[in-house]
Amino acid sequence: MRKLEKRALFCLLFSLILVVGSFVYVYKFASEGSQWIAYPANEHLYTKGRLATGTIEDRNGTVLVSNDKDGNIVYNSDLNLRTAMLHVTGDIHANISTGANRAFKDKLIGYNLITGTFSASGEGRKLSLTVDSDVSKAAKEALGNRTGTVAVFNYKTGEILCMVSSPNYDPAKPPVLDKNDTSGAYINRATSAAIVPGSIFKLVTSSAAIDNLPNLDNWTYTCTGVHTYGNSEKDRVTCLKPHGKQTFKEALANSCNCAYGELSNDIGEDKLKETIKQSGLTDSYDIDGIKTTPSSIETSSQPLNLAWTGIGQNKDLVNPISMLVYVGAIAGEGEVHMPYIIKDISSSSKISLPYKHTDDTKKLLESSTAKKIQDMMRNNVQKSYGDNRFPNLEVYGKTGTAEHKKGDASHAWFTGFIKDENHPYAFIVLVEKGGYGVDVATTVANKVLQVAIKK
Ligand SMILES: [Zn+2]
Repeated sequence: MRKLEKRALFCLLFSLILVVGSFVYVYKFASEGSQWIAYPANEHLYTKGRLATGTIEDRNGTVLVSNDKDGNIVYNSDLNLRTAMLHVTGDIHANISTGANRAFKDKLIGYNLITGTFSASGEGRKLSLTVDSDVSKAAKEALGNRTGTVAVFNYKTGEILCMVSSPNYDPAKPPVLDKNDTSGAYINRATSAAIVPGSIFKLVTSSAAIDNLPNLDNWTYTCTGVHTYGNSEKDRVTCLKPHGKQTFKEALANSCNCAYGELSNDIGEDKLKETIKQSGLTDSYDIDGIKTTPSSIETSSQPLNLAWTGIGQNKDLVNPISMLVYVGAIAGEGEVHMPYIIKDISSSSKISLPYKHTDDTKKLLESSTAKKIQDMMRNNVQKSYGDNRFPNLEVYGKTGTAEHKKGDASHAWFTGFIKDENHPYAFIVLVEKGGYGVDVATTVANKVLQVAIKK
């Protein structure tokens, strides 16, 4: 009897394992099937280890890259276009993880749970991206051979119009990079880098000030060019020159470090931290499956460090896309559509297939706060940088000149948006070791925006 009981128990246990195992398999099959099928050993879809199906186009129908049946990756014949698009499409060796030909492999294959990879015409899918080749080419040209990134997106719809990163190279003939290569050519700086922001971060500090400091309209600070927090030479916040008496609005337009150091301490560590969290900067965004690198901002209870955090130095590292999204939220009076890059997926017979990009909008700051910062960003351009830098554009912006390493030129930043009903674009420009944001990065932004508004 005991023997029988034992055996029955074993049988029960094994059938339980079988049932649970089947559930796990079915679940995994449904959730990860598209990745299994995309495995490079699958000879139905790969030739010579390369994807042998699918075409990628820009928003205007310009073919960026296509994978032919023999395993050849065929890029657009325009060298400047395909180089500008390098970090969006990816290179022939798939070294760039954000490249669409690698990141959206499963979508190019066109796998679905019911029919697998079956396609009546025997051909793969066509992926239309939201990016514009002409705007991207303008960004590549404006950056020249300098390291940096330019990103533009529609803050009302979330469509990414331009995402160019440099150094770049011809994706059809990728260089062999040394193991010790520090250029970071495989990195899409827009999505995957986190860099010292300098004064563009003052937008976040401004938001914290508006939310937490009463009587900000009457707030003033007199800048002598230096604000001391201790006795040593290092315990000082400095400006390039004494700015004199500054209102809150003037302090942002002149990018007065001493004033923003004081503002950061008036706000206090806890409240600044709260605003940073709400700003979304330290989140990772999901762009159709491509995850962005979160920014990293360390606050401090120590007054000097807190001052430098609010100024955008200290240990602040900002991801360009997350800053772009934040500026998009300022433009959208607090709310912003999350960015995406896949416009549409269709079969080769041009039948649109259901693809749902994100429809998420996020609220990153209070509407009244956003409106006040808008007003200050417009004032920056009118009073400090000059509207003449941006013909025919109504630009709202903030420059940054970020110190990162003693002896090296600063990183030049410019971020902002334009108010134009047909072109509601937010932008971010970074030129690493470029010098002054107001000289270098504004010029790049203007060149790109001039092409974008003619579309
Ligand atoms: Zn100052």
